[in-house]
Amino acid sequence: MNNKYDIIVVGAGPAGSAAALTAAEQGASVLLLEEHENIGVPVQCAEALARSTINGYLDIKPEWICQSLSGSIIRAPDGDEFKITYPDVGWVLDRTRFDPGLAQMAKDKGATVRTKAKAIGIQDNTVIVSEDHTQKNYTFNFLIGADGIASRVGRWMGIDTRLGPHRIEVCAGYVLEGIDIDPQYARVIFGHEYAPGGYAWLFPKSRTSANVGLGIAPHKTKKKAYALLKKWIRKEFPGAVIKEKIFGGVPARVLERFSGKDFFLVGDAARFTDPLSGAGIANGIKSGVIAARSAVLRLHGKKDTYVKEIKHKILDEIALHFQIRSLYMKLNDDEYGEVYKIGREILGGKTVHDLNVTHVAKAIIQSSPRLLKLSIGLLF
Ligand SMILES: Cc1cc2nc3c(=O)[nH]c(=O)nc-3n(C[C@H](O)[C@H](O)[C@H](O)COP(=O)(O)OP(=O)(O)OC[C@H]3O[C@@H](n4cnc5c(N)ncnc54)[C@H](O)[C@@H]3O)c2cc1C
Repeated sequence: MNNKYDIIVVGAGPAGSAAALTAAEQGASVLLLEEHENIGVPVQCAEALARSTINGYLDIKPEWICQSLSGSIIRAPDGDEFKITYPDVGWVLDRTRFDPGLAQMAKDKGATVRTKAKAIGIQDNTVIVSEDHTQKNYTFNFLIGADGIASRVGRWMGIDTRLGPHRIEVCAGYVLEGIDIDPQYARVIFGHEYAPGGYAWLFPKSRTSANVGLGIAPHKTKKKAYALLKKWIRKEFPGAVIKEKIFGGVPARVLERFSGKDFFLVGDAARFTDPLSGAGIANGIKSGVIAARSAVLRLHGKKDTYVKEIKHKILDEIALHFQIRSLYMKLNDDEYGEVYKIGREILGGKTVHDLNVTHVAKAIIQSSPRLLKLSIGLLF
């Protein structure tokens, strides 16, 4: 059995499979390691993906989609709502089909995919793997760490990957069934009642089912995410059936260093999630593709621009969204209400074809003297 690979990827989430697919397409020998038996299970995600964030990186196949979306309904702390229509804005995926589908594409291009194969350590250029209760060693020229929020690859490569309470959103979610919703509109709810320092979401999977959940900033509240979720769902969907429970963290801090001479961190392992929305699928795929291209260039003795490309395509937006998040953290419910009213004036009842979060945030801030004062020094 071949134990030597040009590139070893640890973790077969969207970031790892996108990396393995890209590297294999470019002719590298690739090993993709996944600790679970079934790729994509358990789902730790609300599965929403905006089309604009993934354009040019991956074509989404119809069989990966649960529900296509045409916009959002935004709710203020006082319960008032407005609707934004945004045709073809994105999808709610089925990650139990999407994740294995992407790994299968990597396999079809020649990558070796091993499941029930957990990386347990790294020594020089060797990954030590616990596979079917035996220990195996695989050597690499380049390593891609795509092992998610609890990444150990980063730590093994000497990087401080710790996330304090200021740098994480704690999320709780359910897959709900037996509800009656408009399946084309995602719902987003702001306010301290359900989501202090974060937001609550409903992403439809069909007319009768949805991913619902909320993310909270642990330094903003002593309340527990599950207790808040229970309260919300009991009030809003009293007859619903809870099909699955999801609990997890979303990083809101980028690492100072996310690559080295012979390794790259991608996706949640590098903390490339959007600090405003918590979305990480798209940046996972983008960073996986960019890392794989860079590794192949280095394999051929050429120079790559991994850090520069990641900065330009991912980190600049994350930095701005982090500043907006810092401002958001300072608001009370009355101020959320103010933001909501301005947002409704700008977007309520409209059909949009492009929504730039930065432009909307700036417009909101500039319309409110209090927000403008708070944001000076943070944003500008
Ligand atoms: C409640 C919740 C809701 C979310 N909702 C959304 C959403 O709606 N939209 C969105 O874009 N993002 C969402 N996210 C974030 C999103 O799930 C992640 O950003 C995304 O999955 C990151 O992809 P990844 O490939 O980097 O990591 P992951 O998807 O976490 O994949 C990492 C893989 O590595 C494997 N692994 C870990 N350690 C090892 C090891 N030692 N050896 C071998 N394999 C290993 C794991 O089993 C896993 O398969 C949500 C997150 C949470 C917690």
